[in-house]
Amino acid sequence: MNENELFPSITALGAKLFGVSEEKFSDWKWQLKKQVRTRKEAVAVLELTEDEERAFSEVEPLFNIGISPYAMSLMASMQQRGEDITALKLQLIPRLAELSDANGKKDPLEESANSPVKEVVQAYPDRVAFCVSNLCPVYCRYCFRKRRDEEEGLHYNRKIIEEGVNYIASNENIRDVLITGGDPFIASDQTIENLLEKIRAIPHVEVIRFGTRTPVAMPQRITDDLVGILKKYHPLWLNTHFNTEEELTPEACEALRKLADAGIPLGNQAVLLRGVNDSTEKMLGLCRKLIRNRVRPYYIFYPHMIEGTEHLRVHYKKGIEILKGMRGKISGFAIPQYILDTPSGKISLSHNHILKEDGKDLILEDLNGNPWREIDALHPPL
Ligand code: SF4
Repeated sequence: MNENELFPSITALGAKLFGVSEEKFSDWKWQLKKQVRTRKEAVAVLELTEDEERAFSEVEPLFNIGISPYAMSLMASMQQRGEDITALKLQLIPRLAELSDANGKKDPLEESANSPVKEVVQAYPDRVAFCVSNLCPVYCRYCFRKRRDEEEGLHYNRKIIEEGVNYIASNENIRDVLITGGDPFIASDQTIENLLEKIRAIPHVEVIRFGTRTPVAMPQRITDDLVGILKKYHPLWLNTHFNTEEELTPEACEALRKLADAGIPLGNQAVLLRGVNDSTEKMLGLCRKLIRNRVRPYYIFYPHMIEGTEHLRVHYKKGIEILKGMRGKISGFAIPQYILDTPSGKISLSHNHILKEDGKDLILEDLNGNPWREIDALHPPL
């Protein structure tokens, strides 16, 4: 069975489920307009549990709900084939557990406090995250920017953009600007290009990066026109956010191909989530498929302490064990860093292979769990 048989295109089924032509289904503006937000819309295409059905109305006052028809169709196509869609549902479909989280915080990374001007988050002197948007192709249940759900008028707000660009222009230490959101690709081509023009005109900004989940949840957004704009502003990098192998559909892979062919280096940031991708096998499947599509696995985040997500959190050692299990089974460049993010920056977590120092030698644990003596590793002295 080839890869496309295992992961068939979902456009044909999606168009049928939503009663439109394949051309309409492939139009990202239609996808956005038809986001599934209610129980009634959801049960029309997908079987839900009673908990999930109730959650649509009970969770909605607290956290955004919205799922692109494309993402709904991916789940529906898997459900029709009798496959387990728990990993996708946990990411996208609300559930009542979101209402009973004792420890979750609204803004666990204290981004608001670390913003010199509104929506420009700065944890390091040389780079900023510029949150220009608050619309998304899907509203992920574990999103760490839920603090912005309650606020209106954040989406490509003229004043926020102007103040943000002025701040970046006035701070010559900033070499790297991450344009993020929400999802910064949920805007017209012209709006995105206007922003790129402004940022590229700042002489000390060397690198522009985008963080977007559109290749995962609304790959129709990666149009030839958009890619044509992006490639005018190199060096431009893009991080996307696949959490599971099944999200890499033919449509998603085609979006990645377009971006990679435009010379845009692609990285993936996954979030480690209970029941979604919390095993070595699942992570290997994801990372193998990412690199086949020219996307480098960049980070796996330990899940933030965000409100409404207790049911998705994992023990921190889970990620360390997963990455340890990947060593030797996939090329080193395809193993992401396991990161715990804090208000003052990212902390890399990994298995400690150093057992002890012995005279001038270092004793390590090798990949098979056996000791290895690296002779003279402590010489010359530091
Ligand atoms: S697409 Fe990104 S910003 Fe939007 S809800 Fe998902 S994780 Fe949050």
